[in-house]
Amino acid sequence: MEPQYDHKKIEAEIYKKWEDSGAFSPQVKRGKTPFTIIMPPPNANDPLHIGHARFVAIEDVLTRYHRMKGDSALWLPGSDHAGIETQYVFEKKLKEKGQSRFDFDRDTLYKMIWEYVKENTGVMESQLKKLGASCDWSRFKFTLDPEIVKVVYKTFKKLYDDGLIYRGERILNYCPRCGTFYSQLEVDYVERDDKLYYLDYGKIIIATTRPETIFADVAVAVNPKDNRYKDLVGINAKIPLINREIPIIADSLVEQGTGTGALKVTPAHDPTDFEIGQKHNLPVISVIDDGGRMVGTPEKYIGMKAETARAEVVKDLAEKGYITKTESIQHTVGTCYRDHGLIEPAISKQWFLKVKPLTEKSLLAIKKKEVVFATERFEKIAKNWYRNLKDWNISRQIVWGIRIPAYRCDKCLEWTITDGTTPDKCSACGHNKLTQDSDTFDTWFSSGQWPFATLKTTNPEDFEYFYPTSVMETAYDILPFWVIRMIMLGIYATGEVPFREVLIHGLVRDKEGQKISKSKGNVINPIEMAEKYGADALRMGILWGALIENDVSLSEENINAQRKFCNKVWNASRFASQFSGEARSNKAFDKRLSEIVNKVTKNLEKYKLSQAAELLYSEFWHWYCDECIENAKKGEVGAKQLKEGLLVFLKLLHPFVPFITEQIWKEIGEESLLISAPWPKA
Ligand SMILES: [Zn+2]
Ligand SMILES: [Zn+2]
Repeated sequence: MEPQYDHKKIEAEIYKKWEDSGAFSPQVKRGKTPFTIIMPPPNANDPLHIGHARFVAIEDVLTRYHRMKGDSALWLPGSDHAGIETQYVFEKKLKEKGQSRFDFDRDTLYKMIWEYVKENTGVMESQLKKLGASCDWSRFKFTLDPEIVKVVYKTFKKLYDDGLIYRGERILNYCPRCGTFYSQLEVDYVERDDKLYYLDYGKIIIATTRPETIFADVAVAVNPKDNRYKDLVGINAKIPLINREIPIIADSLVEQGTGTGALKVTPAHDPTDFEIGQKHNLPVISVIDDGGRMVGTPEKYIGMKAETARAEVVKDLAEKGYITKTESIQHTVGTCYRDHGLIEPAISKQWFLKVKPLTEKSLLAIKKKEVVFATERFEKIAKNWYRNLKDWNISRQIVWGIRIPAYRCDKCLEWTITDGTTPDKCSACGHNKLTQDSDTFDTWFSSGQWPFATLKTTNPEDFEYFYPTSVMETAYDILPFWVIRMIMLGIYATGEVPFREVLIHGLVRDKEGQKISKSKGNVINPIEMAEKYGADALRMGILWGALIENDVSLSEENINAQRKFCNKVWNASRFASQFSGEARSNKAFDKRLSEIVNKVTKNLEKYKLSQAAELLYSEFWHWYCDECIENAKKGEVGAKQLKEGLLVFLKLLHPFVPFITEQIWKEIGEESLLISAPWPKA
């Protein structure tokens, strides 16, 4: 053996050997237990960040462990087109060039983004290899692969035929800057300081934070139990500045304790008001357009941005004596999760998925333990989401994604839904001129189908054999976006849960426990770390010190400490493999070794990877090296036993530090590859 371990010299070569050996690509073997993890697909055009390194370490340990146990272990990799995220990044690049997405037609824009993604693709894949990910590249999928799109279309058509898809007019979360509607999950609610204006509506005083929308008022509502206003219900109030008369109505949605207890009802610009308006059959008047500018107001405000108009309207109201009081308040407002600007609730026609039949089945599957959350608190969160989920708006006004296979008849305006084929005539009237909806599916609608969409489009028997998959391992922050959608759509489309277990991991934080972000300047680049200290040291460092479900603190010192451990493994292996002392078999040695195998195996079965890693570290260093090797020098442990012990340790360590263990395995003369060696028995 070389006196020193140099990861730079060997990592790439070892990875290639593994890949060439076919170890990553499991066979469908009846009678053999499958073990399947579908990788959460990283963005196709982005490099990996430290959060990805955590999932790589966790999922690779599990896959390697099950492979060595003799299971048909499949870790299926993929990449994500990441709809709005990618289009957002691309649009920022356009902006740098003084252009915007609105300068191009739909097809041109799509092609431009496709080219952009293609240019940047491949980085993520080579980085996964660098970290030692033993995933099956022959089964790699991209979310926009034509065969994946076909599956997504099929599900959509089935949902439509089952009456679960409808076209609904809804008040939705609209971002005037992104120019798109968002689902409730994509809105961040934040506390904000604002002014509350008390306005004189003739017979009644109302309080509002949005005086620029008074022109869209259609009623004033009070709570039916509010004695102050009982006599006013049924008579008219008057909108200031324009003097339009609107009715005073009673509705239990109005909170008596808020403001004056009288609410101006503006259905086009507020979700609660929309609901009240629907109940009372009130008209919908909109005074803010798609670009966030005023329309249909008195002339002087037309074309102003809403925030500017607010200041102007307040000035005019004050001048004319309509403001009776102004208060500072702190309240919650919806902001865009991408650009953090204000969300403008607005009316739109969209495709909706009725979620109730799907959420009910998901809740039932959780109850029946068909799908189990490894950590209880995440099960609670998931159930809570299911219980409160509103119908899901699955259309997005972006081009980068899977275009909705809905075609509108130019003549009768009815929709024809297909499974992706272009219809030759309208299904309602037979007319032959149809126009496809320009919207795309919400990314989570397609990625919610990922476990079965991937397995149905790889090898012919894959789906039957590997589905339902064993475990879905993913980050905490996409539990509501992704995990609950996969369970809903998986059960709907296949009749079975997509995975048996859900394993959620926490964040990677810096050594002070702070969230890692560019603005804080505490970014840890996983690839730089792997290059500097070796992929093995990075993997150990990131698994170290925290259970999977908790946040983990990572620092360069941690990683360096694990490099020292790797060096220790190398040096000890060198000694043990060259040692030639004789001694009779030491029973205590065998017993201890067998206990270690037992504990590590148990920890791995329970996903307690940090405990397994820490145990291996201390047993190898403080027992095997400090005691056994020293005892061997004194003649108390023989060469044969020492070497046998080393082989067991190399196997146990392999899932955690695969490169160095594989290299030692070869250097000490083992012929086959360690990656395919059998897991030791206790
Ligand atoms: Zn936005
Ligand atoms: Zn028609």
